[in-house]
Formats: sequence, C-alpha cells, structure tokens
Amino acid sequence: MNAVMDINIKRTTRSRLNDQPLENAPFGHYFTDHMLVAEYADGAWKSVEIMPYQALQLEPSLAALHYGQSIFEGIKAYKDDRGNVAVFRPFENFIRFNLSAERMQMPQVPEEIFMDGMKTLIDLDRDWVPAYEDHSLYIRPFMFATDAVLGVKPSETYKFIILLSPTGPYYSAPMRIYVEEKYTRAVAGGVGFSKNAGNYGASMYPTAKARELGYDQVLWTDAFEHKYLQEVGMMNVFFVVNNVAITPSLEEGTILAGVTRNSSLQVLKDMGIEVAEKRISIDELIEAYKAGLFTEVFGAGTAATISLIKELRYKDFIMNFDTDKWTVAPELKKRLDAIRKGKSADTHGWLYKI
Ligand SMILES: *Cc1c(COP(=O)(O)O)cnc(C)c1O
Repeated sequence: MNAVMDINIKRTTRSRLNDQPLENAPFGHYFTDHMLVAEYADGAWKSVEIMPYQALQLEPSLAALHYGQSIFEGIKAYKDDRGNVAVFRPFENFIRFNLSAERMQMPQVPEEIFMDGMKTLIDLDRDWVPAYEDHSLYIRPFMFATDAVLGVKPSETYKFIILLSPTGPYYSAPMRIYVEEKYTRAVAGGVGFSKNAGNYGASMYPTAKARELGYDQVLWTDAFEHKYLQEVGMMNVFFVVNNVAITPSLEEGTILAGVTRNSSLQVLKDMGIEVAEKRISIDELIEAYKAGLFTEVFGAGTAATISLIKELRYKDFIMNFDTDKWTVAPELKKRLDAIRKGKSADTHGWLYKI
C-alpha cells in the first residue's frame, strides 16, 4: 500500500459520549462519535477516512441491496481495571473477513485499513469503551457493493466501514433448541463459512418457525439427511459427550470458523479436557443421552461468549439438561471472559492492545 492509505481524520465538534448512560447499554443501539469509511474503485482502495458517525447517502440501485455482496465481522474490545483497552484476537477476524470477501467476489481489504484503521478509530473513541463489569465495545467492520447499476455482476466499487458500539452484558438464559429437519443454513460448496449478510437473512424464517413452537433457536443440520449437526443459531456448537468436548469439524465449508470456537478449543485443552473436531450425528447424541454420557451442550460466539442450552428437541424426542450441574461450559465461559477482560494471564497472546 502507498501513501494514499494515510487515514484522514475529521473529528466531531461535539461528543455524544454523555448523551446516554453506557451502563447496561443494549446490544448494537449506540454508536461512538466516529466511524471509519474506506472507498474502493478502479481496482484500488482510494481513501480511508475517520469521520463523525453519520448517515450515508446511497443510490436506490445500490448493488448490495439487490444482489447481496455484503459481508461483516463482529469483534469485541474491553477495558481492564486500569483503564487499558485491548481487542480480542482481531487479526483472526481480519483473515476471516478476507475469506468472506473472496467467496463473495469482493476485494481484499488490506491490513493497513482493517487493522490499523480499527486501532486508530478505537484509540480516538477510547472513552466510549465501557469500564463496567461484563461490558465491552462491539466492533463491526463491514463491506458492501456500491455500484449503482442493476446488471448482475460483481460490483466495481465498494465501501468498507467500521462502526463501534458500546455494549452492556449479554445475559442469555439457558436456551431451548429445535433440531432443524426441514430448512438448511449451509451446504458444502455454498457460503456457510463466510460471514455474509445473506446467511443471516436466510436464517430468520426457520428461526421464527422454531420460536412459534416455543424454541429460542434452531440447531442446523446438513442439507442432505438433516442428520449431521452444524451450528446453533448463529453460533458454533459444542457437545460434551463422555467427558470429551466435541464440535463439528470445518472441512466441509458449512461451518463458520468462529474465533470463540477456536479459543474455546484451546481453553478446554488448558482445562485438561479432551477435545475433538468431527462429524457428529443427532443419532449418536441421542444414544449418548440415553446412556447418560451426553452431559452438556452450548453455543459459542463473540456476542454471548458461551450460551448454555437446557433443551434439545429432535422430532418428538426431548433431551433435557440441568445446567446448574454443569462443570465444563461455565468454567470455559469464566476463563474466556477473564482473559478478554485482562483479569487472567494472556498466555496465548490473544489481546491486541490499543
Ligand atoms: C459470527 C458467527 C459465529 C461466531 O463466530 P465468532 O468469531 O466466535 O464470533 C458462528 N457462526 C456463525 C454462523 C456466525 O456468523
């Protein structure tokens, strides 16, 4: 990259920091004073600007709205007790973002823009990182196609934007989960591994159907037999069977390679728990449940870290769990949160200091 990548900074003339309390801020409602906007055209990134958070002016023919070239990431930054700000494993998100971009035929975003831009932006708005217990600054990098023509082809112009959103604790009660047998989230050769907007759009109808039946989310299964497990809602899923923590393997390309998933595998090993990444069928889980060997099931993702699941329903068979008795998932969550908050040693070098 060349000198064009210098980030042009236009500061706000009036901070909105004190307009609302940050304590217990709901997820994704408030945005910091500034945002980063980079523009791509003619085969190159043209400009990178940090500017006051503001509305965008867009053409109604905007390619992203019609044909879905739109990808994003979700990352969190934390403030420790001494006021230091650190981001949890953002380089992993940077790499994943460009994998998503490749799959959606969108340009690669260089490290100078994604990483250095994010760092400069957070540094500028560091007072917005909430210092309260279990609070964080949610970081939302995203990119979308901006050509203003209706012809179906990869857009030639794009915007890459980073928004920052201060967020309170994410309390999620143990969930009831419906094992999906009709709808499909991802198929080998498809886009399941990419964090594109359309995957979320496509998940809403099956999720709403499961809600009508009294369930919180669906457990996605493979497209062909609806038998092999993929993810839970928009989180990776773990099962503790016979004291081994297992999660679906990534090689089919149907699973989003979560940073929380990867971190969980490491922390579980640190806890002395055996882990396995493999193909897992609902039948083997039911068998293990009946034998009393299937003891815990939980989701893993940046928003909630670890979400406990108290019920799984497959056809008419219901598996209930007493989450109060669990030992693996609660300890995993405690350890992950302690690392992210700077409360325990960062032995894996996961914190990126701002
Ligand atoms: C974002 C996401 C996850 C979780 O990934 P993290 O990096 O842990 O936040 C899992 N599954 C899907 C489908 C996702 O979009």
